[in-house]
Amino acid sequence: MNEALKAKQYALRKTIITMIYKAKTGHIGGDMSVCDILNVLYNKHMNITPENWESGDHDHFILSKGHSVEALYSVLSDKGFFPKEDLETFSQYKSKYIGHPNNKIKGIEMNSGSLGHGLSVGVGMALAERMNKSGNRVYVVMGDGELGEGSVWEGAMAGGHYKLDNLTAVVDRNRLQISGTTEEVMTQDSQDERWAGFGWNVIHAVGNDIDALDEAFTKAKETKGKPTVIIADTIKGFGVSFIENQVGWHHRVPTEDEYTKAMEELSAKEAAVQ
Ligand SMILES: [Mg+2]
Repeated sequence: MNEALKAKQYALRKTIITMIYKAKTGHIGGDMSVCDILNVLYNKHMNITPENWESGDHDHFILSKGHSVEALYSVLSDKGFFPKEDLETFSQYKSKYIGHPNNKIKGIEMNSGSLGHGLSVGVGMALAERMNKSGNRVYVVMGDGELGEGSVWEGAMAGGHYKLDNLTAVVDRNRLQISGTTEEVMTQDSQDERWAGFGWNVIHAVGNDIDALDEAFTKAKETKGKPTVIIADTIKGFGVSFIENQVGWHHRVPTEDEYTKAMEELSAKEAAVQ
């Protein structure tokens, strides 16, 4: 099942790591962790395409953990929102492909990266789409470190209050943030009770497994009368052995040697699934 999406898993990551290596900046760890969530959303569950983009009549996506924009660029260029060659300008002077999402880029609706804002904006979008009776859905992807922002819980409160079953939040639960494990910095255990307390349906999924994510998003669509949060258990740096689960790779640039090794590893994994 989902063979086409699985075939993309490592190619998308090669685009990410190349972008960061050339620009000498970026957030590899979080990109690799969130990449499969974006792959499944854009290539299976959301009705957002380059063709329907201008109409505004489509599902809506917010990457609230905006520092992982390289993963979003990789997925959007793969889907044809803009040429992949555009990404050669990533983080260069005068390029619009900067280090956080901005709405000058086709495929991106909300500027983000000041953490904690995405869910509340998503609540507003979901309310609007419900008023419009459009059937369009709203997806907000957050980091687990981001849940330390109080504004996330204002959005959670409102989403539950308005019973927004057209809203799905995803927590990229890689258990690391910039300065350590989430449990050291601000514990994120008892997630289920927190979200359920605000009236949300809670689903767990293995967040680097395409089939598991597919199933979770399907269940979220089927849930009526309340919003759904998917706690996606991911591995920060997933796909490259020496980057996985290393807090230091939150915002580190690979050396030439590391870049070569990472690309070899990803290419081998890509070949194995094709
Ligand atoms: Mg994290």
